[in-house]
Amino acid sequence: MQYGAPASNPDQLCCDAKHFSQLTFMMKTIKDFPEGMVPLSKKEQFQFKCHPGVDCYMTCCRNVDMFLYPYDILRLKNFLQISSQQCIENYVRLVQGAAHPYFPSLMLRLSDDAEKSCPFLGDEGCNVYKDRPSACRTYPLERAVDRNPEKGAESEFYFMTSHDYCHGHGEDKNFTVKKWVRDQRLDEYNLMEELWTKMDTVFSTNPWGGEGSGGPKQQMAFTACYDIDNFRLMVAEHSLLDRFSIPRDQKRRIRESDEELLKFAYEWLKYFLGAPTSLLVK
Ligand code: SF4
Ligand code: SF4
Repeated sequence: MQYGAPASNPDQLCCDAKHFSQLTFMMKTIKDFPEGMVPLSKKEQFQFKCHPGVDCYMTCCRNVDMFLYPYDILRLKNFLQISSQQCIENYVRLVQGAAHPYFPSLMLRLSDDAEKSCPFLGDEGCNVYKDRPSACRTYPLERAVDRNPEKGAESEFYFMTSHDYCHGHGEDKNFTVKKWVRDQRLDEYNLMEELWTKMDTVFSTNPWGGEGSGGPKQQMAFTACYDIDNFRLMVAEHSLLDRFSIPRDQKRRIRESDEELLKFAYEWLKYFLGAPTSLLVK
């Protein structure tokens, strides 16, 4: 795996690119939201519809800055029937320091055509629609998770985006946040991203010790989070499941399901890095 390359500085991202993003930031009160951003209440109505008839159809799938999270990679590689390693090598680029300096982020790598299209954009629309990344599902909303560890439980907030190129706001269809989340089947993505946010919060404490970033521990963490197929091989090779008190049914689910394996990966990584974990050593 070409871990560590090709890293780039997020400050150098194209300034007119479209932004599909999930925001995660620390805040203590509502005053800590970025300036001008007011969260929608769950029941607040907004008008939006995206369909092949809008004159901007597929505009947002070109020249787009999009972060990809571990569950996005998992869903994409399964949809495309390729390995997680191939998915990373073919469709992502690493970005250092986007959320914090201690773990790289992944961003969608755009095609090198003149329009910088998403590599999954076909003539008729999205070629990976069923398993498209969470940011594509969430748009035109953006989701923010308050991960202030002092407050214990995390809270989520949704914001409405407003981009001149997007004409879906003029369409005659009303949603609430709750309805949009259900319509786009975001719950399963949000659940996995909450687990990821907790994992990334551990990374943000610089848990690598004297090795620093880019050392063997961080490489291991990268494999566990993003390269789930190679992590599966590692789990089998080192009999990792047998080292912890895990009910037989759960072990079976972990062996059969990438989602369950990713959940185990996060808990195992916390154990590996000395952070609180739900795993009990035998
Ligand atoms: S994954 Fe699909 S919806 Fe998302 S930017 Fe690419 S083509 Fe568009
Ligand atoms: S309506 Fe908005 S989300 Fe839909 S294709 Fe147009 S720009 Fe993209």
